[in-house]
Amino acid sequence: MRLTFLGTGAAEGYPNAFCRCARCERARVLGGPSLRKRSAALINDDLLIDLGPDLMAASLLRGRSLAAVRYCLQTHAHADHLDPSHFLARSPEYGVPDAPRLQFYASNATARRAARALENDLAPAGLLDPATGERLNLMIHRIEPLQSFVAGPYRVTAFPANHDPSVEPLLYAIHTEGRTIFYGTDTAALPEETWRAFHRFGHRFDVVILDHTCGPDEAGTDHLSAREVIEHAARMREENLLAPGARVLATHIAHAGNPVHPELAAFAAEHGYEVAYDGLVV
Ligand SMILES: [Zn+2]
Ligand SMILES: [Zn+2]
Ligand SMILES: [Zn+2]
Repeated sequence: MRLTFLGTGAAEGYPNAFCRCARCERARVLGGPSLRKRSAALINDDLLIDLGPDLMAASLLRGRSLAAVRYCLQTHAHADHLDPSHFLARSPEYGVPDAPRLQFYASNATARRAARALENDLAPAGLLDPATGERLNLMIHRIEPLQSFVAGPYRVTAFPANHDPSVEPLLYAIHTEGRTIFYGTDTAALPEETWRAFHRFGHRFDVVILDHTCGPDEAGTDHLSAREVIEHAARMREENLLAPGARVLATHIAHAGNPVHPELAAFAAEHGYEVAYDGLVV
C-alpha cells in the first residue's frame, strides 16, 4: 500500500498567502516541505481521501495524475477539504469521457452540504439525484459512523471525529494488502466511542495520521495540538493499537502555532512521531 500526502496544511495553507507572520515568511524562504497545501491524501493510485481545494495544484506540482481515482473517502464538508467543483471537472461534460465511475463516500450531512454547493450548476435535479450520478459519472454512498464497508480492494471503517457536528465528520481506517492506515483529521481529542471501536473492529495500525493544527505551545481547539498528538500516540501504543514498526504522522499543520518543517520535524522526532509534508510517500 502506497500513501501519498497531496496536502498537509490546515484550512489556510502554509504559508497562508495573505499572511506576513514570521513563520509564513520563513516558509517562503525555505520552500520544500515547509510549503503546505490544504490536506488530502492518495492511497495507491485509486483511493483519494478528500476532494480538497488544492487537488489540481497538487497533481500538477507532483506530476501525479488522479485519472485512476475510483474511490473517494470524504472526511467532512469544510471548504478546506471539499471542493465540489471537482465532481464537474472529472465528468464527461468537462471533456473527461473515460474516467472510472467515482465512488464517493461521505456522511449524510457532508453529502448534503456538497449538494447545496452545486445547486445552481446541477439544477433542477441536484447532486443527490441518481440521474446526476449518471451525468457526472459518480455514485454517492452515504456512510454512518462505525460502519465498515468494502471499496474495491479496500476494507474501510468510518469513525466519529470530535469536530464540527453539523457536517458529521468521519475519520477512516483503510485496510488493504495486509496493512491498515488510520486517517485522523479533522478532529480534536478522539471520542471514547472511537477508541472503543478501534478495539471492537480489532484494528492495529501500521500508519496513523493525526490532526496537528495546533502547535507545541498551543492548546487544542476543535483540532488536536502537538501535545495531544503525543498523548494520542502514547495511548495507541499502550492499548496495543499500533503494529510493530508503526509510524505516527502529523498533518493539517497551521501557521499560527507550528514552526517551519525542519523545526517541527525536529520537535516531533524528540517525541516519537513524524511530520508529514506535501509529496511524502509512505
Ligand atoms: Zn480542515
Ligand atoms: Zn502566517
Ligand atoms: Zn474541518
